[in-house]
Amino acid sequence: MDADIIVVGAGLAGLVAAAEAADAGRRVLLLDQEGEQNLGGQAFWSFGGLFLVDSPEQRRLGIHDSRELAGRDWDTTAGFDRPEDHWPRLWAQAYLDFAAGEKRAWLTAQGLRFFPMVGWAERGGQGAGGPGNSVPRFHITWGTGPGVVEPFVRRVRAHMAAGRIRLHGRHRVRGLTFTRGAVSGVHGEVLEASRLARGQASSRIPTGEFSFAAGAVVVTSGGIGGNHKLVRQNWPTERLGPAPDVMVSGVPRHVDGELQQTVHAAGARLINPDRMWHYTEGIRNWNPVWPAHGIRILPGPSSLWLSPGGRRLPPPHYPGFDTLGTLTHITRSGYPYTWLVLNRRVIKKEFTLSGSEQNPDLTGRDLRKVAGRMGKRVSPPVQAFLDKGADFVVRKTLDDLVRGMNELAGNEALDVEVVRREVRDRDLQAGLPFGKDMQMATIRGARAYLSERLIRVARPAPILDPAAGPLIAVRLNVLTRKTLGGLETDLHSRVLGEGGKPIPGLYAAGEVAGFGGGGMHGYRSLEGTFLGGCLFSGRIAGREAARATGG
Ligand SMILES: Cc1cc2nc3c(=O)[nH]c(=O)nc-3n(C[C@H](O)[C@H](O)[C@H](O)COP(=O)(O)OP(=O)(O)OC[C@H]3O[C@@H](n4cnc5c(N)ncnc54)[C@H](O)[C@@H]3O)c2cc1C
Repeated sequence: MDADIIVVGAGLAGLVAAAEAADAGRRVLLLDQEGEQNLGGQAFWSFGGLFLVDSPEQRRLGIHDSRELAGRDWDTTAGFDRPEDHWPRLWAQAYLDFAAGEKRAWLTAQGLRFFPMVGWAERGGQGAGGPGNSVPRFHITWGTGPGVVEPFVRRVRAHMAAGRIRLHGRHRVRGLTFTRGAVSGVHGEVLEASRLARGQASSRIPTGEFSFAAGAVVVTSGGIGGNHKLVRQNWPTERLGPAPDVMVSGVPRHVDGELQQTVHAAGARLINPDRMWHYTEGIRNWNPVWPAHGIRILPGPSSLWLSPGGRRLPPPHYPGFDTLGTLTHITRSGYPYTWLVLNRRVIKKEFTLSGSEQNPDLTGRDLRKVAGRMGKRVSPPVQAFLDKGADFVVRKTLDDLVRGMNELAGNEALDVEVVRREVRDRDLQAGLPFGKDMQMATIRGARAYLSERLIRVARPAPILDPAAGPLIAVRLNVLTRKTLGGLETDLHSRVLGEGGKPIPGLYAAGEVAGFGGGGMHGYRSLEGTFLGGCLFSGRIAGREAARATGG
């Protein structure tokens, strides 16, 4: 045997699984198709938002949260409605217990720290029984994605130095090996060495082959978001309408889903493949790292969201409210893109770009720069998009703005009078202390929360206020990101096969397993639950594989 356990994929889930298995004294072989420069996979690029329930950070900000409230929010958000939701439901319960219990202490004991402001993602907008977070729960890791990855890289490297973990980069697994019905190893091809920087699309040219044997294999190879062919194949047209012709990619190309398909073809059950978590606020990166690289805007609630023809999207499709609901509205309407219309004052306060490299202040743990978020200047990453982003139009007057939008879109879809009517109707409501516009009401409500008022939500004001200009329009594309369905696993992270029985020797964790169970999110996420799902399921898979190979 080459190792006790083989872990395939050195993203967050794989790092956690490998570290936990090695802690238990097992010899681990950690394989990844990318080079060592890519350690941490997607999590390195992430914003580092983590879902926690009833944390000290929430309590300090006056947020009343509880396991019960979070459980109800999860249920209404997930919308579990299929027989195959058996394991996903159990995983959701177990994950909620973790997020309301041990998660924070386990992470802080490893050195992870949180930014004191808690964000409010996925606010819902369909009432108490609808999807969304009743309260803010999006805890930002001090150091963003790299800060999440750091403790696990540290643990893996310590085990490497002690000889318990061996890491082989550029090893692309192409299949599982079976002995008497049990998984006994993996085989694949060694790819030519690559010196490309992290995240860039590396060569797939093989220079040789490999096969390794072990007592157990843990698959942590990520989702399918970087493989648009697979995304389109799995797209639920009857539920969402057709996928847009153009989509940008919110993940690197290594998120190719190929190993998930291979493991499925070898007998593993793959459930809920039609459930995916793509965003509606994608912009083309002016400085791309991977193919079709898109950045997701995490928008505050004040911008006006318009269809390609300039009509305001109907309630509750406001920025940051209900990702799947708004996606469904957009794709069912056949919109190839949508527009946000705002001004400089709103962009300054409300635009955060998702991704570690787009938040150098938080990623670099630089308090002075973070304090700048409360100042008057637009943050440098957002300013760079204003200056160079292909989806941005900046003009002084509404007539010029609409002309620029039509030029950018390459059509005459927008009539300036239609847009003027929508902007004016909104602006008339902005000056009222209370009024009939739901978006304005939620903006006022959000500002009752200190964190939102300080760094996230602009004071209600007219978009056409000349003192707040220039005017800005942003063309939004659908951005592919997360895979919610996946390999079906039981609560021990064992992959299930024919008849729902565990395939001996095979485990899965992280995005490839739908973050646990084959889809613990159901149809929707409360956000910050993906990194958390990798931590939780990676920990279980590593410990369970170690127990099973304990001799
Ligand atoms: C920009 C961005 C922002 C995000 N922000 C957040 C956030 O704030 N909060 C949150 O909860 N989530 C966030 N996410 C999502 C989260 O980062 C991912 O869901 C999570 O990191 C997935 O981890 P993973 O280990 O399952 O998979 P991955 O990170 O995709 O790692 C899988 C690894 O497996 C390797 N691999 C694949 N196939 C093979 C093969 N055949 N052979 C060998 N190796 C293989 C890949 O090279 C890769 O290294 C964000 C993601 C991105 C991209």
